[in-house]
Amino acid sequence: MSIQENVPLSSLTTLRVGGRARFVAECRTKEDVQEALLYAREHSLPWSVLGEGSNVLAGDNGYQGIILLVRIPGITETAHNGAVLLSVGAGVNWDTLVRDAAARTLWGLENLAGIPGTVGAAPVQNIGAYGAEVKDTLHEVHAIDASTGKERIFTNTECAFGYRESRFKKEPNLIITSVSFLLSKDGTPQVGYKDLANALAEGVDLSSPESIGDAVRAIRTRKFPDLTQVGTAGSFFKNPTISEEAYTSLKKRYPDLPGFPNEHGVKVPLAFILDHVLNLRGYTEGNVSLFERQPLVLVTQDGATADEVDAFAHSVAERVMRATGIKIEREVRNFPS
Ligand SMILES: Cc1cc2nc3c(=O)[nH]c(=O)nc-3n(C[C@H](O)[C@H](O)[C@H](O)COP(=O)(O)OP(=O)(O)OC[C@H]3O[C@@H](n4cnc5c(N)ncnc54)[C@H](O)[C@@H]3O)c2cc1C
Repeated sequence: MSIQENVPLSSLTTLRVGGRARFVAECRTKEDVQEALLYAREHSLPWSVLGEGSNVLAGDNGYQGIILLVRIPGITETAHNGAVLLSVGAGVNWDTLVRDAAARTLWGLENLAGIPGTVGAAPVQNIGAYGAEVKDTLHEVHAIDASTGKERIFTNTECAFGYRESRFKKEPNLIITSVSFLLSKDGTPQVGYKDLANALAEGVDLSSPESIGDAVRAIRTRKFPDLTQVGTAGSFFKNPTISEEAYTSLKKRYPDLPGFPNEHGVKVPLAFILDHVLNLRGYTEGNVSLFERQPLVLVTQDGATADEVDAFAHSVAERVMRATGIKIEREVRNFPS
């Protein structure tokens, strides 16, 4: 385990804001994780975990503790009841895993191509895109329980997955060290999602995990900002689920408002509200904007601060509330939480 001191959180997070972290421990094995926890205990330091920092808003005051930067490598394949089990170190980059699975012609992860971040963070918010979620293929999660220092294993059901939710959000004492996925050698393309259905209609090859992954990456490149040019954490807010009555009433005012019924009500695309109800596409305050091509995505320019991002997000949420009565929630998590 190597420890660095006084590291800017803006260099560890894709929103590129935040003060300095007092210590950052790079953990390449689960023993490194245990050692870093021991270091924190012996020095009476608070600790926290980061992957690639693509879903967090780090505070301007920095962090006076030790950050465990999970970088555990490795992908191993084993046969499992006619399917294939890939066991993956929590520090592996998510899209590296998606490409690796596609190269082995394994189905199941291809719709999740191009999502930034690490494999270890993927179950935390049950990442999802293009009609797929990590819970669809996840077999088990291995984690170190910081309250005992011991390893625990969670089955898919025990992870308590929901829309951008899991038990790991509520139990920060669980540090994920590896995740296994049950993938199929003979899957079928899942191309019902609008952008993929359009690509299929235009003649794009969507016949293999590799070609679907490439198509998804191409769609994402058109939709999301370039991480090398601006700061962003992707979609800043969750798409809200509202009651059927609230949906019916809004639909009268905005007949084009899409709605997707689920067990809790009707999920509505927040991007539609930001764009067509509030006209906020490209809306800017100081160094923070809603991305021109996808208003659910918040972007920062050089010089932005976490306080500025926070105030901007509050102002957007307030406008949504005033116009529609909908209380929106952030997808991006405050760091430290
Ligand atoms: C351009 C862009 C597009 C995106 N598109 C999508 C999308 O389509 N779908 C989607 O779901 N998300 C999307 N995201 C969000 C992000 O990619 C995911 O949430 C990703 O899983 C975060 O991974 P990370 O390693 O960067 O996690 P971090 O941001 O480092 O951490 C996120 C949270 O998980 C915790 N955590 C991290 N690693 C571990 C671990 N090993 N054990 C326990 N807790 C841990 C952290 O403490 C933190 O609370 C996007 C982000 C960006 C920037």
